[in-house]
Formats: sequence, structure tokens, C-alpha cells
Amino acid sequence: MRATLMYGAGDVRVEDVPDPVLRRPTDAIVRVLVSCVCGSDLWPYASMAPVEHGSRMGHEFLGVVEDIGADVTTLKRGDVVVAPFVWSDNTCDFCRAGLQTSCRHGGHWGAGDVDGGQGEAVRVPQADGTLVKVPVGEDSELLPALLTLSDVMCTGHHAAVTAGVDARTTVTVIGDGAVGLSAVIAAKRLGAERIILMGRHEGRTALGRDLGATDVVAERGDEGVARVRDLTGGDGTHAVLECVGTRAAVETAIGVTRDGGVIGRVGAPQYTDVPMDFGTLMRNITLTGGVAPARAYIEDLLPDVLDGTIQPGRVFDRTVTLDDVAAGYQSMADRRALKVLIRR
Ligand SMILES: [Zn+2]
Repeated sequence: MRATLMYGAGDVRVEDVPDPVLRRPTDAIVRVLVSCVCGSDLWPYASMAPVEHGSRMGHEFLGVVEDIGADVTTLKRGDVVVAPFVWSDNTCDFCRAGLQTSCRHGGHWGAGDVDGGQGEAVRVPQADGTLVKVPVGEDSELLPALLTLSDVMCTGHHAAVTAGVDARTTVTVIGDGAVGLSAVIAAKRLGAERIILMGRHEGRTALGRDLGATDVVAERGDEGVARVRDLTGGDGTHAVLECVGTRAAVETAIGVTRDGGVIGRVGAPQYTDVPMDFGTLMRNITLTGGVAPARAYIEDLLPDVLDGTIQPGRVFDRTVTLDDVAAGYQSMADRRALKVLIRR
């Protein structure tokens, strides 16, 4: 089969790799219908040292069950399924606590002998625990929206949930990328009436308004903080959803958080220290968030995707074939594309 491999910064190739086969009785083989490029794929795309043997790429995919191992009980051939961005047994103590990203028997796509999602097919370990059946056909127009449940929509939702967003909270979303826009969707879905989106790409912030943002702040740094404070009577907002991952974004987050407020941090951190100094202590700010346990959220969000209450598929603004995936990476790296969908 064909699959995507990364050999270093700026070097993504689609190559022939062995077809996946069942190795353990808990495995399933999924033929991929749609997958996508993640913002987190862009970090190695910008900085990865060259390697001789490429890394298999992709951790967001939706497809059709082609085969199942003897111990798989909840799936059958022909089921359309979405995969969260890590695989997990969904039965251990961490999974039962809703933290499938810490599963005792789970792991990552594209690691070791596990396939990546940006390919024609995937061997799925712990298939019963990992895959979620979606009640649509292979040709459904909802496939892109359902694919966002792999990662980006659940990551935005995690920022909102960990920051305690509800009808009583005001919200700032930092970042107008696909995660930030998903966080806007999540905050609106959870009842927030005031959602300030910080971002400076007009097309993206316009989409953000469409998805539920009530205000847009294009300024960054101290100016951006001052602008959010102006909009909130000088106080900042109760919840701040940090969807970028740079130190500057964290500093902005602290600056726009109301005293006693909560920062839900989901941007993949490109920094090693967090500026939580004495002044921050005096303001009783909570820093939470982390990697989203997507598997814990898919069933919650699925009905709203199916009936169109939320439309996270709108974050995709470019579609490429698998053979053109390198161009897809480059268009996201150049910020010409917000998020790239891959169809075979
Ligand atoms: Zn587990």
C-alpha cells in the first residue's frame, strides 16, 4: 500500500510500504477514507533532522473496517469508524477515568510497528477500545466533520472543558488555527455567550465569528492583552483557551485571564518554561489542559456533528489526494491552507 513518511524538515514522501495484516487477536484492519495533516505535524516538518528511514505520519483518520481479529467483538467488516489520535484499550483504570491518552496498554500511531493514518490502510491495535463506529456511509458528506473527532475538535473541546467553560464564563480563545476555531465551536456549544478570538488572519477570524466568536482581537502581545481587558471592563475573561503552543501565547493567556480564572492549554508547547511568577500566584490563576483524551469525548460530540449542530468540518479548506500530501504539508506550513484533508 501507499503511505506517508517524513524524512526530515520539508521532506515528506508517499511510498510503498507493506500492507497491514492482523498481528494480534485484538487488531482490526481499517481502509482509510479520509485523513488529514495536523498542526502538530508541522513542527517536525519545520525542524526534523534528516533520517535514513522515514517516520510514518498521520494520527487522524476515518475509514472502513476491512478485517478483525478473533477477539474483536464490537466491530464488523464494513463498519465506518473514526480513530482517536492515540489508540487505547478503553478498559484500564486510566481509560475508565477518561484519560485514554495515558492508557496502560495504548500507544501512538506511526510508532514502532504501528501504521500512521496518512496512508491507504492502518492496522489498529486494541480495536474494540480505540475505534468508534459512526452511523454513516462511505460516501457521506459528513466524513470531514466526523474526521475532526480524531483530534482537532476534541482538542478544542478539551481546552474548553478543562478551563470550565459554561454559560456563566466569558472566554478568550488564543489562536485562529484549526484547534482555536474548534475551541470556539466548543465554547459556544458549552453555552459561553462571550467568546473573544485572538488571531490576525482575517479569513480565519471571519470563520471564527461564523462559528461563534463574538469579538476578534487582531493585536498581539501587550497590545492584545490591553485590547481584551478593554473589552472586559479591565478584568480579562474567566476562561482562556490557549491553542498555539508558544511562550508568547502563554504570556498572553496569563495576561487576559481574569483573577481566579483558568487557562486550558492545548497548544503543543514549543517552550520549556512557563512564566508563573509571584504576580501570577497573587492572581489565583489555574493552568490546566494538556493532551486531549479524544476517545473520551467522541461519543459526547458525535450526535451534534451528525445533526449539524456543530460543523467542525469547516476547518478544512483544502483537499489533496494521498499522492499530493507533500503539497498539502507545504500549503499548511506556508499558512495558505488552514487544515488539509487527504482523500485517496
Ligand atoms: Zn487503557
